[in-house]
Amino acid sequence: MSDEGERAWAQAVAFTRDRSPASFDQWFSGVQFDSFTDGVLGLRARDEFVRQWVEDYFLPTISEWLRAHTGLSVQVRWIIDVALERPVAERPSSFAPVRPRAISVRPQADPAPVRADSDAQTTGVRRVLREDEPAGRVFAVPPPIEGLNAKYTFANFVVGPSNQLAHAASMAAAGVGGRRHNPLFICGGTGLGKTHLVHAIAYRVREERPDTRIVYISAERFVNEFVQALTDQRMHEFRARYREKCDLLLVDDIHFLAGKTQTQEEFFHAFNALHQGGKQIVVTSDKYPQQLDKMEERLVSRFQWGLVADIQAPELETRVAIVRKKAQLEHIDLADEVCLYIAQSVRSNVRELEGTLIRLAAKASLLGKPIGMDFTRAEMAATSTARPNEASVEDIQRAVCHHFKLRSIDLLSKDRHKSIAFARHVAMYLCKQRLKCSFPELGRAFGNRDHTTVISAVRKVEALRTSDPEVRAHLEALERKLGSLE
Ligand code: ADP
Ligand code: MG
Repeated sequence: MSDEGERAWAQAVAFTRDRSPASFDQWFSGVQFDSFTDGVLGLRARDEFVRQWVEDYFLPTISEWLRAHTGLSVQVRWIIDVALERPVAERPSSFAPVRPRAISVRPQADPAPVRADSDAQTTGVRRVLREDEPAGRVFAVPPPIEGLNAKYTFANFVVGPSNQLAHAASMAAAGVGGRRHNPLFICGGTGLGKTHLVHAIAYRVREERPDTRIVYISAERFVNEFVQALTDQRMHEFRARYREKCDLLLVDDIHFLAGKTQTQEEFFHAFNALHQGGKQIVVTSDKYPQQLDKMEERLVSRFQWGLVADIQAPELETRVAIVRKKAQLEHIDLADEVCLYIAQSVRSNVRELEGTLIRLAAKASLLGKPIGMDFTRAEMAATSTARPNEASVEDIQRAVCHHFKLRSIDLLSKDRHKSIAFARHVAMYLCKQRLKCSFPELGRAFGNRDHTTVISAVRKVEALRTSDPEVRAHLEALERKLGSLE
């Protein structure tokens, strides 16, 4: 292996690190460079999982850099080397100037530029320490957790006003800092990042305290397992799993327990056992606890013992940051104006935002085109009903809440308090005026109300608009605000 080859590799890695998410070092600590000769790059990976990840996410950039700087097209030869079990890597600050050998990950003679634990020094093995980690603690590549998406980490989660509380509370639940609430109840509409946060908690806890017994389960699977345990007469095992052999319980989509009284009862006991034992419980739901249908009162009240953190649809700035982050993670080259256009066009949920980006990238790569503005406009016009600059129901609800100083959830609730009902009627009226939604659609968007309720609300506001100057002033202020959104 030539020194030049090694130097080229180190520079390519440094280049890639600067363009990669925070998880870069984490993954690279499981990789060792062997050689780079005549365009053949020899690498070792600790296991197949690391190999796959590095190959999918980082190698395209590294290979491209090497190709551009050596003129050789790059072929990679991997060796899976379990002897790499103790991951080794140097972690320079991401702002440090490019240093050759920055990530030559073999044990070597030159002095280690990062802190190493004493054990590591004796074996010549170095391990990565994260930036926020106090000296003396070791951070190793977390093994995948079954059933969890390895991309759903805190590093990949974009924080904005819409999800700030849920994010901070999740970090605290993972023991990262801040006041820990038990249980933590994360609620919000579909595709807004609840599952992402829960997986991130699991990964972070696994990283920080590998001995923690983490149980992650969707409520749907909890029901199935419960029924199976009953059928097989293995309730003893089932109970042990959720009451005794668990230090952190993460239950996704708890609303699925609606109407399943026997499972609710079982969950209630598991909850109590864990809570009494001081074990952290995190639950997600598409509704606030008090809005959960067919859920036992005692469970609903327990869900409110700790912190209820909601996630709202993200604002424009957050959507832009999310599109950027996803593009970066998926190695999609995206101009700022395209990023903004996508974020303006898809407003309701992050999953859709992500789907749009991936679809555009796939189509562009298929056609061998860059993702330019014209291409994006044409593609989005062909495939999407949403147009940029058109307010959505959520935008109107948000504007109304802001104007009347209410929470979005109030508009969807059954609360008949006069001021809340008035704001709700105004929001329905504005939606009807400005969007092409039918009355039943609006009924559904306002907490599943009957379409006749929407019709009468719209009529009422129409009448008040002419008869009551105060109402007219509210409407005009809101219309100005919505106009400026457009
Ligand atoms: P939910 O469980 O609330 O329905 P998910 O957690 O499955 O939503 O999120 C849907 C998709 O959107 C996932 O791919 C997730 O990574 C992404 N996502 C949601 N919120 C964010 C965010 N704030 N930053 C980055 N990605 C996000
Ligand atoms: Mg989910």
